[in-house]
Amino acid sequence: MAEGWSNRFGLPVELRTDSRFFSTRARFRAWADGRRSWRMEHFYREMRREHDILMDGDQPAGGAWNFDTENRKRLPDGTPLPSRRRYAPDHTTRQVAELVADRFGAHIGNAETFDWPVTRSQALKALDDFLVNGLPWFGDYQDAMKEGAPFLYHSLLAPALNLGLLSPREVCAAAEKAWRAGRAPINAVEGFVRQILGWREYVRGIYWEMMPGYADSNALEAHRPLPDFYWTGETDMRCLREAITSTRKYAYSHHIQRLMITGNFALLAGIAPREIERWYLAVYADAVEWVEMPNTLGMAVFADGGRMASKPYAASGAYINRMSDFCAGCSYSVALKTGPRACPFNYLYWAFLIRNEDRLKMNPRMAMPYRTLSKWSAAEKKRYLGEAEAFLDKILPIDNRGS
Ligand SMILES: Cc1cc2nc3c(=O)[nH]c(=O)nc-3n(C[C@H](O)[C@H](O)[C@H](O)COP(=O)(O)OP(=O)(O)OC[C@H]3O[C@@H](n4cnc5c(N)ncnc54)[C@H](O)[C@@H]3O)c2cc1C
Repeated sequence: MAEGWSNRFGLPVELRTDSRFFSTRARFRAWADGRRSWRMEHFYREMRREHDILMDGDQPAGGAWNFDTENRKRLPDGTPLPSRRRYAPDHTTRQVAELVADRFGAHIGNAETFDWPVTRSQALKALDDFLVNGLPWFGDYQDAMKEGAPFLYHSLLAPALNLGLLSPREVCAAAEKAWRAGRAPINAVEGFVRQILGWREYVRGIYWEMMPGYADSNALEAHRPLPDFYWTGETDMRCLREAITSTRKYAYSHHIQRLMITGNFALLAGIAPREIERWYLAVYADAVEWVEMPNTLGMAVFADGGRMASKPYAASGAYINRMSDFCAGCSYSVALKTGPRACPFNYLYWAFLIRNEDRLKMNPRMAMPYRTLSKWSAAEKKRYLGEAEAFLDKILPIDNRGS
């Protein structure tokens, strides 16, 4: 390839390995080749060994590969949160913001409030800030959600990593150093490293292995259009309003808001994968197709039929209530399963399982809800399906079903 370009442009061309990643595309292929199923956890352990990250000899540092069971805490009321470090726009950033406002003024978001790090030195400051003010609590509250607090203890480093302002290697090394110096606990540091050395590398591998066909995946045959409230935030479902409002304001919402609020709703509602996928690509500061697409199609809406995730991340209102303070002030009641005041996530969840029973019931990780469903009468199933259909028809009329 380098030779072709060299000839074409009459210039010497040298192709270098992309320093924004630990592994090459060829390395992922070597791992994936011949495996019947791909699972992030297996790939991640190999990467830990290969790059000697969080290892003590040939054993995982801290005595385990994964500390996830310690990482699913709800945020206690009144917990102090770090304030987000902001970076005042310089002349170049202001010029770009003006251009964006001028050409794309009617699009979602607001360029005037842009304050992400855009230089190497700002990105390094953002990393230092995270190591002190975020990392020690990152693990505990990684999955937590709180009204008016979209950032919590997350790093906000994805744009800098994706742009190459920070290398994943230096970020993981800095996190490991913080643990070895006793400045952050192992559950936080391992959880953080897994996102970068595990998930980020893994989804990139999936993207390049599966494209271009991957973009058209629709294993669950979902065809509804995206509701308008994804663009405006105007919905009386408070969790969605929160996630979309922070998206509009900051071009950010954290992983669990993306996966378990906006993604989960799209999954349960049967939104066409391509519609929700284009939305994620349009709205986030860190959005790049190689990472966004597998996260959306593979993780959020199970459009790839399980190539990437071992089960759909489908959840009812109970999960959202457990992990957030959104439900308390919502116009719907999370305690009600059906009826006009019931949380729509509740009946949508069961209707999703009923609709997809033939596709999902053999999945061992879905055994529990399908055991519950097996005790339901046909009339009860019909009632849930009816409520879900009526709600969805109200907010998003179906178009081109089966197209
Ligand atoms: C539907 C959906 C769409 C997404 N689209 C993008 C996208 O376009 N660009 C993007 O960078 N991330 C995307 N993610 C992954 C993840 O949500 C973001 O990387 C993360 O929220 C960015 O915020 P942060 O920097 O504060 O991350 P933190 O929570 O602090 O995590 C640390 C770093 O780990 C990496 N990371 C964490 N989770 C993932 C993941 N699932 N896949 C890949 N890398 C991960 C990121 O580089 C992130 O900066 C998406 C997730 C979902 C569910």
